[in-house]
Amino acid sequence: MKKVVILRYGEIHLKGKNRGTFENMLLQNLRHALEGIECKVSRIAGRYLVSEFEQEHIKKITDICKNVFGFVSLSVAYEVESDKEVIENAVLKQIADIDDGKEKAFKVLTKRADKNFPVRSDIFSADMGGVILEKYPNFKVDVKNPEIEIRIDIRESGKTYISSSVIQCVGGMPVGSAGKGLLMLSGGIDSPVAGYMMAKRGMKISAVHFHSYPYTSELAKEKVVSLARILTKYNGPIKLHLVSFTKIQEEIHKNCDDAYMINIIRRIMMRVCERLCESEGYKAILTGESLGQVASQTVESITTTNNVVKNIPVLRPLVAFDKTEIIKISKEIGAFETSILPYEDCCTVFLPDSPIIKPTIKQSEKQEKYIDVEGLVNEAIAGAEYVIISHRS
Ligand code: ATP
Ligand code: MG
Repeated sequence: MKKVVILRYGEIHLKGKNRGTFENMLLQNLRHALEGIECKVSRIAGRYLVSEFEQEHIKKITDICKNVFGFVSLSVAYEVESDKEVIENAVLKQIADIDDGKEKAFKVLTKRADKNFPVRSDIFSADMGGVILEKYPNFKVDVKNPEIEIRIDIRESGKTYISSSVIQCVGGMPVGSAGKGLLMLSGGIDSPVAGYMMAKRGMKISAVHFHSYPYTSELAKEKVVSLARILTKYNGPIKLHLVSFTKIQEEIHKNCDDAYMINIIRRIMMRVCERLCESEGYKAILTGESLGQVASQTVESITTTNNVVKNIPVLRPLVAFDKTEIIKISKEIGAFETSILPYEDCCTVFLPDSPIIKPTIKQSEKQEKYIDVEGLVNEAIAGAEYVIISHRS
């Protein structure tokens, strides 16, 4: 008797005419996530089915499936022929899997999509309840408040699925259903979490990292590559753009008021990002900023950095999150240990003692007159490189 995994999706029910596209994306993403594990992925009546795998891979498969955005829950079920006796055996096997000798309240719920199956759902549920009670005296029927619900799903395909528990999945929307976005990926804790959350809402993530080599080390770059690789688990392969900020930082350091260093850095980063978005078709810039966390994340600072981006939104999914909440997610997605490795970020090079906390657009523009912003942006774009990160590389 073989186990299969049944997956249910949520919000995409709401998508009316686009539903087909969403469902196909979800199917593709599920297939991609399971690449490398021999199995069959198919659709059955508004659900997805993973079958024909080596039974010892079941835990690995459910762990992967749980993290595919768009699914709300899954069940592990026995798949059998729709024959009364065969189903009865599977139900007893299911109970044997659960039984630990203690008293348990249960109920049986049958759904009969196949009207050729000769017994009505309610009668079949009662029959199977009787079979369980006979073999397992420690099991008691409780239809109102059962601890265990045995579901028997008799499909039109001639197959029946018997399951007992529903496992929560992460939810969200299929990656890619909300277009592509450019994640500003530093080596810190916040930006990988921001990327995860946007992928969860259906945005396919590409990333950009600004480095100040040789002021920052090769290891700092490798750390960012590792963080991007962690995100591929949720997002699929990631195109990571690497842009040198060394000359830009030197120019700002030489010519601008130190208090504006970070402010001008961030404004130039934003300009480079918007240019990358234009050439690559990304529909938004994504950052890990959280309101008030540091001087560059006050509402005034955000106003001055937003001001240089003209045609696309800058999305900040963590804007209202506390650091403790961000750290919790960072740990859950497996990024935290990498994020806290001690390599420096480019923003820490030439760091001023007291950065401006409430800059104005006018003041920022005045500081930028001392450097060739346009020329520096062009040069940064011209020298940009990229790598494609996949979780198997
Ligand atoms: P993080 O934990 O993500 O590093 P942070 O708390 O250190 O964030 P900042 O250094 O002010 O905050 O950066 C704010 C956001 O700007 C980051 O979340 C990230 O999206 C972006 N960012 C900062 N530095 C870089 C960089 N070197 N390359 C790309 N994006 C960056
Ligand atoms: Mg940082």
